[in-house]
Amino acid sequence: MKIICPKCRKIIINENINTQKDTCVCQNCNELFYLSELLEQDDIIDAEELLLCPPKGISVIRDLEKLIIRSSTISKDSLFFIIFISLFGGVSISGFLQVVNDKSIIGIIFICPFLAATLFILWKLLYSIFGKIEIIFSRNENVKIFYGIGNIGKNYHVEWDKLKRIYKLQSRNSENQWNKEIIIEGNKTISISLENINEIKSEFLIKILKNYKYKKLEEIIK
Ligand SMILES: [Zn+2]
Repeated sequence: MKIICPKCRKIIINENINTQKDTCVCQNCNELFYLSELLEQDDIIDAEELLLCPPKGISVIRDLEKLIIRSSTISKDSLFFIIFISLFGGVSISGFLQVVNDKSIIGIIFICPFLAATLFILWKLLYSIFGKIEIIFSRNENVKIFYGIGNIGKNYHVEWDKLKRIYKLQSRNSENQWNKEIIIEGNKTISISLENINEIKSEFLIKILKNYKYKKLEEIIK
């Protein structure tokens, strides 16, 4: 395992690496880093090459002012959502029309949660076909992270020079499914859900972010 200091690019000596505490100290610049955040030498080369030849479903767009890394969130789950919507959505919409026609207040109150669930699944369906995650490095606006469909979604601003840690978090939810997120700790903590993002794409995103963490925006947008 060769750990490279992200600041001075020297190989950190083994005596300064503490795998139990997840830390290492560069003997040259005397700074402490978290091991889980650093890339090995091969990964740094890999990250640079990956930007030139990104995996399927990722596009890298560069101009003078910006670097945009866009990952589509297209997934096979859309099939499940289509089936679900056509069964459940049909029933809840016809139920809604029925209670409106009957002018039944209790009926409307009863049907509302079903309509909300239909809209939620509809959003999931659209996200699994047209959704995207974008990481935008720009000279003037710092770093923006967006996820959603078209222009509708969540926007986060990251002050790049105030970054503390970037790592991937895996946790099990109440339905016993794996929840994967990228956590970006800076002046505030941001979590990017990796829902619908396969392993290759999520590894790419985390590698690029870690590789860029110690770089200045001017170096990133070159
Ligand atoms: Zn160093």
